Amino acid sequence: MKCDLVVVGGGPGGSMAAKAAAAAGLNVVMLEKRQEIGDPVRCAEGVSKRSLHKMVQPEPEWISSEVKGARLYAPDGNSIVMSEDKSGGEVGYVLERKVFDRGLAMLAAQAGARVMVKTRALGLIKKDGAVCGVSAMRIGEPIQIEAPLVIGADGVESKVGRWAGIDTTLKLDDIESCAQFLVQDASIDDDYTEFFLGNSIAPSGYAWSFPKGRKLANIGLGIQGSRSKPGEAVRLLRQLMKSRFPNGRVVEMVVGGDPCSGPINSAIADGVMLVGDAARQTDPLTGGGILNAMKAGAIAGEVAAKAISAGDFTRKGLQEYEARWKEDIGKTLARSFQLKEFFVKLTDKDINQLIGSLAKEDITKMDLGGMLRVLFRLNPKLLWSLKSLII
Ligand SMILES: Cc1cc2nc3c(=O)[nH]c(=O)nc-3n(C[C@H](O)[C@H](O)[C@H](O)COP(=O)(O)OP(=O)(O)OC[C@H]3O[C@@H](n4cnc5c(N)ncnc54)[C@H](O)[C@@H]3O)c2cc1C
Repeated sequence: MKCDLVVVGGGPGGSMAAKAAAAAGLNVVMLEKRQEIGDPVRCAEGVSKRSLHKMVQPEPEWISSEVKGARLYAPDGNSIVMSEDKSGGEVGYVLERKVFDRGLAMLAAQAGARVMVKTRALGLIKKDGAVCGVSAMRIGEPIQIEAPLVIGADGVESKVGRWAGIDTTLKLDDIESCAQFLVQDASIDDDYTEFFLGNSIAPSGYAWSFPKGRKLANIGLGIQGSRSKPGEAVRLLRQLMKSRFPNGRVVEMVVGGDPCSGPINSAIADGVMLVGDAARQTDPLTGGGILNAMKAGAIAGEVAAKAISAGDFTRKGLQEYEARWKEDIGKTLARSFQLKEFFVKLTDKDINQLIGSLAKEDITKMDLGGMLRVLFRLNPKLLWSLKSLII
């Protein structure tokens, strides 16, 4: 089989890459190892409404629920509320990712991409050192797909990066170990995404409830890899269920890792671009990665089309992708990484102080930057090391 571009991975990053490249006239093949795109879901499914609409026109069935805002709980039980449009990246819509991911893959197919499910990429084919395709296993049959360009959109456990010689190593500190239940419970707040902070709840991480409507929610938590051990995330999640949702009925469960390293220095190699979780483009503070994967995927697809028409697949020829994703999401990711590095070291007493200090402030109309500035004004000593980031 021959084509212009092979996209490995049919998540949001891969589908957006395949869609953009096919729309620009490339002959695109997208490989997905699972038999059903989007299933199983390893995600709390939250995205910013405004940012999603900037990229695609979402179909109503992609969205489980629309929330009014986010509520953040300190370990001592005090809470603050932020409105939906100010809460940032992962508040607004709670998606139905099984349908959403499939919907994006269908957009790629409509643009002309060939989608091959149950097809696992096994390695890059190289000739005289240059990438010239992907070897894969399709429903038990080995296949070879010749192409001068490959986009690695193969998620947190990405192998494409390693095959291309791109350093994607994650330290234990740079991965959040997550567990999540899909829970039915009358006590779930259908209107607000909830975040629970505290070192006994989720050490160097946080717990969440992302409502999907009709008293159903993704309830989960992520803890820093170096503070985890086998089964720890699930144990802590059961503990959270007991204290917060004692009558909750668990109907599904997922475990998974979320990179929080900040992006890799370079997401390109000769003949290869990495997007989304594969390029560690997940927000290190919140763990949100759907929108960044989509943005980077769309850019990579466009750059692939230019590279094919220029006949230049070298690292230099793909430099535009590097420059554009860094310009678009790189600065926010770098800032989030610094904030995350600070917040993971806070004690429960510090968190109580920070959230408690906002009790008399009207933060409903503030974005994260505005809230950080108020927090700095009220807690200068505690937040001094973040001065240059906040002011
Ligand atoms: C518990 C949890 C909660 C999260 N909650 C949120 C949230 O609320 N909001 C948010 O924005 N983000 C969230 N994320 C992060 C989000 O899920 C990811 O950032 C996002 O899915 C990244 O998209 P992607 O396309 O890069 O990778 P993925 O969605 O992981 O897609 C990669 C695809 O590649 C396929 N693949 C892998 N290897 C191969 C191979 N060799 N051959 C063929 N196919 C392959 C996989 O099967 C998969 O379908 C969460 C993550 C976790 C773990």
